[in-house]
Amino acid sequence: MLTDKMPFRPKEYFRAITVGEAVGLLKKFGRRAAVLAGGTDLLVVKPSHLEYLIDISRLPLDYIKKEGGGIRIGALATLNEIADSPLLNVEPYDVIAKSTLDMGTPITKNYATIGGNICNAAPSADMPPSLIALEAEARITGPRSKRKVLLENFFLGPKKTVLRRGEILTEIFVPKAPGGTKAVFFKKGRTSEDIAQVNVAVRLTVDGDICKVARIVLGAVAPTPIRAKKAESLLVGKKLEEIAPSLEVVAKKAAEETKPISDIRAPAEYRRAVAEVLTRRALLTLLERFKGG
Ligand SMILES: Cc1cc2nc3c(=O)[nH]c(=O)nc-3n(C[C@H](O)[C@H](O)[C@H](O)COP(=O)(O)OP(=O)(O)OC[C@H]3O[C@@H](n4cnc5c(N)ncnc54)[C@H](O)[C@@H]3O)c2cc1C
Repeated sequence: MLTDKMPFRPKEYFRAITVGEAVGLLKKFGRRAAVLAGGTDLLVVKPSHLEYLIDISRLPLDYIKKEGGGIRIGALATLNEIADSPLLNVEPYDVIAKSTLDMGTPITKNYATIGGNICNAAPSADMPPSLIALEAEARITGPRSKRKVLLENFFLGPKKTVLRRGEILTEIFVPKAPGGTKAVFFKKGRTSEDIAQVNVAVRLTVDGDICKVARIVLGAVAPTPIRAKKAESLLVGKKLEEIAPSLEVVAKKAAEETKPISDIRAPAEYRRAVAEVLTRRALLTLLERFKGG
């Protein structure tokens, strides 16, 4: 019988040269195998049931490029490459680069990939909120076909995603945002290097002075990253000058939509309170930016 106390001793290690080879091996070994990207989660957690490691770190999926009406980010782009990318340091995509700033250590971020951050499906992961706020899509390759899934539908629960047997995430596609879009990311952790007690990305698209699109995406306050849709609906169609006095109401509504748990990092009540504070702060920051502040 397998138990958590069993040592991590995979019996075989493969280094995939092509995506086809990686998905073929994953399909063959199923749950007994895992993909190894940067290893900063997998080699820390060391799941004892794994018998096969499929190293994908040499696949040519470490690009960040403007193409196809948006930005294509290969699943193996590291967090440091994302932080430094000129394409991801212009508004509103800078919210993606900024999401990496309070994550782990610089050394960790030389290895940690965006694909690993997403596929690990930790509720506290720092990359998903910004990507969901910008309507990013996960591009997936399996043994027989490729498919696309909106990132907001990619997560099923802690450590659970829509990936099926044999599938890997190959790319994140961030569509071109409409003019008048700005987004910000805020995170609260116990230390600057710790995983989030709460994180939030807020994106607004404004036409004239009317809010056309609002996305409030919260992490570490539910089994998956969540959109606070009731709070978002309080913003859409409103003039910026109408939004300003209602920030407290919107932030409170967003906090009400969370379903946090208590764990070693924070009690549920604290997470809900911080979700409200960070949402209000994010909205206030955006309103100031729209005013040119
Ligand atoms: C010291 C330290 C601090 C950290 N701080 C933070 C933090 O502040 N915020 C945060 O969000 N995370 C943090 N992490 C977690 C981790 O670094 C990130 O989640 C990282 O992005 C994972 O990427 P990786 O390439 O190392 O993933 P890996 O460890 O290689 O893989 C993680 C999981 O995803 C699967 N996987 C990886 N790539 C793919 C793919 N392309 N397709 C399908 N499945 C795939 C693997 O099989 C595995 O199950 C920290 C980790 C450490 C060690």
